[in-house]
Amino acid sequence: MLTRRTISSFMAACGLALAFCAGGSADAQEFVYRGKAANGPTVDEYLKQVGPEARFVAHGSLTIDGKRMNCGKRPTVLNPNFDSWGGAFPGFLILNIKKIAGLTTQVKLYVYSHECGHQFIGADELKADLFAIRRGVKWGWLDAHGIEEICTFISKLKGDAVHPPGPTRCKLMRNRFRELTDGTAQRASSAPPSGARMLGPPY
Ligand SMILES: [Zn+2]
Repeated sequence: MLTRRTISSFMAACGLALAFCAGGSADAQEFVYRGKAANGPTVDEYLKQVGPEARFVAHGSLTIDGKRMNCGKRPTVLNPNFDSWGGAFPGFLILNIKKIAGLTTQVKLYVYSHECGHQFIGADELKADLFAIRRGVKWGWLDAHGIEEICTFISKLKGDAVHPPGPTRCKLMRNRFRELTDGTAQRASSAPPSGARMLGPPY
């Protein structure tokens, strides 16, 4: 399969870091490039490898269920053949629009923001989760209902060599959401994000 082949070639590129390159198995949750950034594919190389079905979305042009999203200046590749919901390579993100289609809006935005988190904080999965939650609160797209949807989604995942079990991730994200909203979760969806802006670093 195209995806398998593509990932194999990237895994080969990982060289000594091979053991840390997840994503080749059928139950892969996500592919995050864990080799040296300089050895990762450029977005053009990636597009060439995955073929014509993938679509390049420039920085500033991505919308998810009508919400404009960005991750600094990083572009996104929409790849319907990707092994997982989303992924991260140095300098660009991947979304599998086919796979995220059945998810609720807040879970989709979480997936995108988690991958964005890898761009800023590196390979750590829990930190990428918390980055997404902080963004959701700050930007005003995450409310108490959404955090439960994310928990339902993530709790089904058992975890793997690099991803802690889903229930653990849910618990940490729920706690962080409560800390950030400080009991104002019920109002979060209608309140402007300006109040939350002071609660986290300026991502
Ligand atoms: Zn991740």
